[in-house]
Amino acid sequence: MAKFEYAPAPESRSIVSLRESYGLFIDGEFTPGAEDRAFKTISPASEEVLAEVTEAGPADVDRAVIAARKAYESTWSRLPGRERAKYLFRIARIVQEKARELAVLESLDNGKPIRESRDVDIPLAAAHFFYHAGWADKLEYAGYGPAPRPLGVAGQVIPWNFPLLMLAWKIAPALACGNTVVLKPAETTPLTALAFAEICQQADLPPGVVNILTGAGETGRALVTHPGIDKVAFTGSTEVGKEIARACAATRKKVTLELGGKAANIVFEDAPLDQAVEGIVNGIFFNQGHVCCAGSRLLVQESAYEDVLASLRRRLATLRLGDPLDKNTDVGAINSAAQLAKIRELSEVGEAEGAERWSPPCELPVKGFWFPPTVFTGVSQAHRIAREEIFGPVLSVLTFRTPAEALEKANNTPYGLSAGVWTEKGSLILYMASRLRAGVVWANTFNKFDPAAPFGGYKESGYGREGGRQGLEAYLDV
Ligand code: NDP
Repeated sequence: MAKFEYAPAPESRSIVSLRESYGLFIDGEFTPGAEDRAFKTISPASEEVLAEVTEAGPADVDRAVIAARKAYESTWSRLPGRERAKYLFRIARIVQEKARELAVLESLDNGKPIRESRDVDIPLAAAHFFYHAGWADKLEYAGYGPAPRPLGVAGQVIPWNFPLLMLAWKIAPALACGNTVVLKPAETTPLTALAFAEICQQADLPPGVVNILTGAGETGRALVTHPGIDKVAFTGSTEVGKEIARACAATRKKVTLELGGKAANIVFEDAPLDQAVEGIVNGIFFNQGHVCCAGSRLLVQESAYEDVLASLRRRLATLRLGDPLDKNTDVGAINSAAQLAKIRELSEVGEAEGAERWSPPCELPVKGFWFPPTVFTGVSQAHRIAREEIFGPVLSVLTFRTPAEALEKANNTPYGLSAGVWTEKGSLILYMASRLRAGVVWANTFNKFDPAAPFGGYKESGYGREGGRQGLEAYLDV
């Protein structure tokens, strides 16, 4: 098939004005860290240094928690819901107004294609604030009693795959319910969280309601173990999630964890083939596969295997990998050297264990961190690439004959975050959905998110829900 040549269509980065260095956002102001320690954040597509960021130490965590407590007691928890809603609506509108700037910043710092940050991350972040603004004055109708109370100060730690969107998932419900927050963005992607701190200033949010502490794992650890925190919300690896659960055991802290996944995307022989192939591509190559609910295990019914694979290979040959700021780019950069090393290692293990590796012809840029879209066939249940989260653009393909076998294989994982089912039979969709041990099951689509739909896992994918009426429970004393 002929491949179209596309002229470069770069989004201008002039809309973003980066400061050379950033302080911590505590009590409504940017302030230096107590220990005067800093680290650099780079563009994973070019390895260019974007800015220097402060590393928060225990004294800074303390200061931020005290500011959040003061704001909670003196202002935020006392405001009527309709007043909190005004701030949340204001924040949502400013996020929309700054959408282009935030999208460019996200793509620069994270490496994801501008098409995704512009069309998915930023609009969904705004939608989360709009949605939760709507709940702020209606909490008594959420099903948690006539006058549900907030919990207090929330300590929130988020990963690097959807930086601003994960911030919105955490901060919007916390604030709507009357809590104040201290949030730590991931070490490699702090810039949109710092831009969000400026948005809080612009929205005249009372000082201390939102505090942003940049730093690495140590800062996260100091935050979640701080005795002044009432609620811990974490998204990230299962390993760190378990450590946090242990640290918070036998304390008053309420904990929600959104951890890893190894989702099965199940394609039956009667599925609309072209749509299913688009869904497979979106399922695993969206955001370079840095998605906790990615459809990283493709289960294809044996009778459709040849057709699906041929069509998938054809489609993958048309994906464009490269500059995240180019509007034609489908696959951007891997977020960090460490993540690239992990993807390489697991892919080599896949080959060593006997699976067959395939990538479309694709030129990787010289600078930066890159990995081509990759498909493994001949994968068995026991292979590590079928069991472990690779968190990269790597698909493992398995086959099945009957719905029962598909279920058995899909559920044979320590995770349980999401799943996909492709078939034209409604009855089969319902049969599968009710038996798949996954928090979200998509039917004839994949990776669809909406603030009104609860999201969360079973088993080692964590506990608690984010989004929807169910997500409010995590931030209320119920
Ligand atoms: P982590 O779980 O280490 O990072 C998530 C967040 O937790 C980051 O902000 C991190 O800080 C922070 N953190 C790290 N250690 C601690 C700690 N002991 N206490 C509190 N907070 C902590 O994920 P990684 O970035 O290391 O990625 C490793 C793997 O995790 C990936 O390869 C992928 O498989 C999985 N992952 C899953 C995600 C998901 O959405 N389910 C998201 C990200 C990763 P810092 O970034 O500064 O280290």
